[in-house]
Amino acid sequence: MKVKFWGCRGSIPASYSASQTRTKIKQVLQAALDADLKRSEDIDNFLDGLPFNLRGAYGSNTSCVEIIGGDEVIICDAGSGLRDLGKAMVMMGPNMPKVYHILISHMHWDHIQGFPFFIPAYMQGVIINIWGCHSNIRETFILQQQEPTFPVRLEDMGSQINFHTMDVNENYQIAGMDISIWEQPHPGISYGFRFDHDGQSVVYSTDAEHTDELHKEDYPFLDFIRNADVLVFDAQFNLADHVYIKQNWGHSSNLVGIELAVRAGVKKLFLFHSDHMFGDEDLEKFLNDSLRYLEIYDDKSQLELNIAYDGLLVDLD
Ligand SMILES: [Zn+2]
Ligand SMILES: [Zn+2]
Repeated sequence: MKVKFWGCRGSIPASYSASQTRTKIKQVLQAALDADLKRSEDIDNFLDGLPFNLRGAYGSNTSCVEIIGGDEVIICDAGSGLRDLGKAMVMMGPNMPKVYHILISHMHWDHIQGFPFFIPAYMQGVIINIWGCHSNIRETFILQQQEPTFPVRLEDMGSQINFHTMDVNENYQIAGMDISIWEQPHPGISYGFRFDHDGQSVVYSTDAEHTDELHKEDYPFLDFIRNADVLVFDAQFNLADHVYIKQNWGHSSNLVGIELAVRAGVKKLFLFHSDHMFGDEDLEKFLNDSLRYLEIYDDKSQLELNIAYDGLLVDLD
C-alpha cells in the first residue's frame, strides 16, 4: 500500500504570502553564506541539509488523502487537495483511471470543498462513488453546487456520481480493500476509516476529539488503530490549546496522537489537519516539540513521527 497526501490543513486552506516567501528565501541565503556552492550538485546537497520548513513547505490544501493499493482510486475526503489529485489524474492522459471512490469523514466545508474543482467529475465515462455514514451527504453535495454559490450544478458535471450510505457497524470491501469504520466525537459526528490490504493497514482519523476516556486501558479506539502501519491523526492543536482554550471544539492534539499511537503499536504516525494559522516555521517547531514529547513518553518507542504535508508519498512496501 501507499498513502499520498494531497491536502493536510484543517478548517480552511492556508495562504502563503509574498512576505513569508521573502523571509524564507532570506533565511536560506543567509544559511548559504558560508557554504561552498559551485555546482548544481552542491546546491542540492546544501538544500538537503536544511530543515524542511526552509527546503520545502507543509502546503495549504485542506483534507484529501489517497489510499493506493486497491483496484481503483480510493480517496479520503474531498477538501481542496482533491483539485490537485484530479489534475494529476488528467495528466495521465489515456491511462487516467475511470472509477473513483471518495470516502467522506463528515461534511464540514474543508472536507468537501474540493469536489466542484475535481476535473474527472466533469468527464463523461468517469464513475465517482461517494461513500459515507451521514445520510445527507448527497443533499450537501447538491447544496454546495447550487446558485448563487457555484455556477455548475452537481447533476450537470458530466460524470456518473453515485452516493452510498455506509453503516458504521459494517465492514466493507471497496476496490479490493477491506474497510472498517469508527464513529468520532466532533460537531455533527465524523467517521474514521481503517483500510486493510495484503497484510498492511492504514487508518485515516481526522476531526476527532478524544476526551479523558483515552487514558483507560481498554479505550476502544486503541483496537481500531491497533498495529496500523500508518495512522493519519487529527492534531490541529497543541496541548495548551486543547486543554485551556479549545476543549470541545472537536479536535485532538499532537500529544494525544503520540500516546494513542504508542499504546496501540502503530508504526508511522502522521500529524494531520494542521492549524491554518501555523506557518512553516511554526509547524517545524510543532514537529520538534512532538518528537521531544515522544522521547519523554517512551524513549524506547520505535514510532516514526512526522507532520503530513501536501505531496508527501508514503510507500509501505
Ligand atoms: Zn476539518
Ligand atoms: Zn470538522
